[in-house]
Amino acid sequence: MSISRALSVVKPTESGDTPALVEQLSHSEVDHLAEYFQGGDVSAHTQQAAVTRIQSLIAKRMWVACGCTGALSAETPLLFPRSVPRSASRPAVLVPLYDRNPHKAGCDFERERPDLTDTPTHQSRSSITGMMSVLPAMGGPCATAPLVATAPRPHGTSEARAAKRTPKLAAVLFTILEGAGLNVLQQGRLSTTDAKSRLEVEIRKHFIAPGKSLFDWCKLSFYAAQSIIKKLDKQDQEDWGKTVPQGFIIEQVIDYHSNATSHALTNVHGEQFFFSGRLIVPGANTPGPWLAIALASKRPGVSAEFDQVYLHPMDSEREYFLVDSDLERHTLRILRRDLSKMKRASKPYTIIKPLTDLTVMDGKTAAKIRPDFILRANPELKRDALIVETMGYEDVAYTTRKLQTHRLMLLLPKTLDLVPHEKGSDEDLKKSIERYIS
Ligand SMILES: [Zn+2]
Repeated sequence: MSISRALSVVKPTESGDTPALVEQLSHSEVDHLAEYFQGGDVSAHTQQAAVTRIQSLIAKRMWVACGCTGALSAETPLLFPRSVPRSASRPAVLVPLYDRNPHKAGCDFERERPDLTDTPTHQSRSSITGMMSVLPAMGGPCATAPLVATAPRPHGTSEARAAKRTPKLAAVLFTILEGAGLNVLQQGRLSTTDAKSRLEVEIRKHFIAPGKSLFDWCKLSFYAAQSIIKKLDKQDQEDWGKTVPQGFIIEQVIDYHSNATSHALTNVHGEQFFFSGRLIVPGANTPGPWLAIALASKRPGVSAEFDQVYLHPMDSEREYFLVDSDLERHTLRILRRDLSKMKRASKPYTIIKPLTDLTVMDGKTAAKIRPDFILRANPELKRDALIVETMGYEDVAYTTRKLQTHRLMLLLPKTLDLVPHEKGSDEDLKKSIERYIS
């Protein structure tokens, strides 16, 4: 049985709705688009025809409906046209709306949903509200480590691949940093001292267990490791209720090494912190520096120890400003340089790096997004936010995945536009900022 190969131009359609037909594409147009969509080598003529057609759809803000499932209905699979800045071979593409409906198996416009990778960018992240404890005393769904004193604790480095969700330890870190405003850049660089005092103010606001202030149990230097352990060893489980007595250290790290029995983290002063247990490093190919959050706990019947550390890449060693990759560091470098230029021209803006997911409504469905950077010039305006997305790789699956999320990001309230930034497009980024921030 052959699959009907027909494409129609439709108006943008919310999920659950039937697309409204604008026009039917001709057989030859469908042939060109199908061949181009497959991603292999195509003739110059086919490429030209496909790109021109997709660009005209972008200009008219139209989508494409695939006819493989029959007449237009709420079940019709949709494709979304999008331009790819600076791509000479594929300057405009059709992106499948994976969340819509599946194509008939074997349809030329069917594409498998790309896998999420294990980089920090692609893990969904939730924030923690209320109690900041990582290890509940009773086990349960939140337990991140075995509580039985005799159970062997796995030692090793994990790239957090298995967990597409944020490790709870990382969520504690993100929540504190966002609360302290250390994911926001307004002017020149913050000194480490200023960043630390902001963190201390924020840490005072949280509790690990009833009556147990995070401030007493979270320190900003590995120097405090021994005193945390000593204090933990004196704790009674009864005083902590449902939480295992636990303490944290947040500190910048410039290097780490692991062997079979221990991990060594090196701080900016060149001093080392050793521990055994689990080291979680998302996107392990990203070079340092990193921000570390270390967890120590006092389990029943054994001495307290640090046995879990999460590392997240930082922009530089000083300010606690996180990035998800080295490419984001590059984007941020451009943004910072541009910010100081714009400030001299009395057009300052704020650079925000959301650390936890934001929710937007896509039709009737709630979707989670986390833009790489949001620039805001004037929050009093109805629309002032410019989203800047670092485009990492050239492969089609990656671009496709990014373009999917870009459509959702534009649904963020107050958002003016989204600027993709990739290798070689620094000037485009600066021009876009100039155009919007004025
Ligand atoms: Zn189809």
